[in-house]
Amino acid sequence: MTWRSHRCGEPSKALVGERLTLAGWVARRRDHGGLVFVDLRDESGVSQLVINPERAPEAAALAHDIRNEFVLRAEGELVARADETVNPRMPTGDVELQVDALEILSTSTPLPFQLDEEGVDETLRIKYRWLDLRRPRLQRNIRMRAQMISIIRREMDAAGFVEIETPIMAKPTPEGARDFLVPTRLQKGRFFALPQSPQIYKQLLVISNFERYYQIARCFRDEDLRADRVQEITQLDLEMAFPDREVIFELMERVFSAVWRECIDVELPTPFPRMPFAEAELRYGTDKPDLRYELEIEEATELTRSSEFGVFANAEAVRFLRVPQELSRSDLDKLEEVAKSWGGKGLAYLVYDEEGEVRSPIAKFLSEPELATFRSDPGTTVLFAADRPPVAARVLGALRTHLAEQLDLIDRSKWRPVWIVDFPMFDWDEDAQDWTPNHHPFTSPTPETEAILESDPGAAVAQAYDLVVNGTELGSGSIRIHRRELQTRIFDILKISPEEQQARFGFLLDALAMGAPPHGGFAPGMDRTIMLLAGEPNLRDVIAFPKNQAGVDPMSGAPSKITQEQLDELGIRLVEPPN
Ligand code: ASP
Repeated sequence: MTWRSHRCGEPSKALVGERLTLAGWVARRRDHGGLVFVDLRDESGVSQLVINPERAPEAAALAHDIRNEFVLRAEGELVARADETVNPRMPTGDVELQVDALEILSTSTPLPFQLDEEGVDETLRIKYRWLDLRRPRLQRNIRMRAQMISIIRREMDAAGFVEIETPIMAKPTPEGARDFLVPTRLQKGRFFALPQSPQIYKQLLVISNFERYYQIARCFRDEDLRADRVQEITQLDLEMAFPDREVIFELMERVFSAVWRECIDVELPTPFPRMPFAEAELRYGTDKPDLRYELEIEEATELTRSSEFGVFANAEAVRFLRVPQELSRSDLDKLEEVAKSWGGKGLAYLVYDEEGEVRSPIAKFLSEPELATFRSDPGTTVLFAADRPPVAARVLGALRTHLAEQLDLIDRSKWRPVWIVDFPMFDWDEDAQDWTPNHHPFTSPTPETEAILESDPGAAVAQAYDLVVNGTELGSGSIRIHRRELQTRIFDILKISPEEQQARFGFLLDALAMGAPPHGGFAPGMDRTIMLLAGEPNLRDVIAFPKNQAGVDPMSGAPSKITQEQLDELGIRLVEPPN
């Protein structure tokens, strides 16, 4: 038996007079007393059914019971609509099916929300995801995601990369998050970790003579959730032997250009510019600069060394932003709150009004050369940060993005990818009073800074790079350490004892001692990429079955309790017995 002769998006004038059988979901039903109209929807589109009691009394009797999201099969004759009933907004809007036979294949209980309803609570949407996914927006996102993955596979295969799966039950891989752990019945008291990334495996694959590896890999990171952060992510994970950073950049530019071109018909500007981390910090106050607008940070540390204004003279760094607007007192108060929430102590400013007159409590302390440098067009506000360099960067970077939104400075038609390069090897962790890797501990320092790793860790530069598009970090990667001796030096600096090195990474250290070629790789996040492509502000809207903001799946109820029997089998006793 065949369920249907055509799909709901296919009927057109060319088929008028033919007998068609359609099957699909009821998107809308209008009962005009006698005539019943049904919009029938399937994957391909929507067709209008007309059920006329005079023509098909049995079908008409059934039609009165039909509700939204019932699944129907309808057979009839395709007819042209009268001119006044043509619907130009519907691709099939100039025809309709005069139904002769109707069958209800499946009914539906009353819906928890209507598919065309806006602003439905997210948890409710995820709970009834099978309904939510029927909406055009989610259909588009999930289909575009599939298209993106298939383009990526095509390009990676063409570039000679071999797709290889790596274990999901593994050993912890340090990417800076907490691990999800999996107990095992056969080895009580021991735990697998779900991979934060396939980092060590991909290095081992290249060491194993798979010179070009890739995988569409699932990664698990137990982190707090945000609109742009989920715990289960998908990455295009790749690694290659004898790498040259430029080769990886070119490959990624090719892959991303193909994705943008084929998914949304946009030509990305290649090659993507490269910007050193230090420059990004200085000019944009962040390692994820949004280059769609200017509003660049300027530097005034030298100029203000002997300033009369003590706050400037005594600060390690003085930097400023020229905002193209005369901001009011209350605007400035709000911005000061933003600055404080990013660690700033206050917010000094100079406001130039429409006449070019300056309004500011600090102007009287500033010298002629200072005022000359800060002097701006009428209708401009200059905002200052005077602090330690990372704090000054962070505060002005946050003000920059905040003001770009507030003043509508962002050209949303633009795509501005950029490679951020030359990251520091280590960051100083104030709480732990220790160095932590800026990327991960397998990242190679530049040959020029290898010698100062121990003596001046803060100045060592990593061969690491990020891809940033419109202010969103899409991926990170690096050239790796391929000599055992250098790897143990890094572990030593990170205060990982030789015993712990052996226990956690012994297998990698052994592999590095048995002919490891120079290698490096990259891993762009697929969820974030599709989020940008689809213009979705929420990552969960590009994932078929996401968890909600609390990390819970309201649909299945996971994570769920397990039975006492399962706990006993795993050798686990809960501190808090399940209630
Ligand atoms: N494993 C890294 C990450 O997931 C990427 C890489 O270094 O290739 O961020």
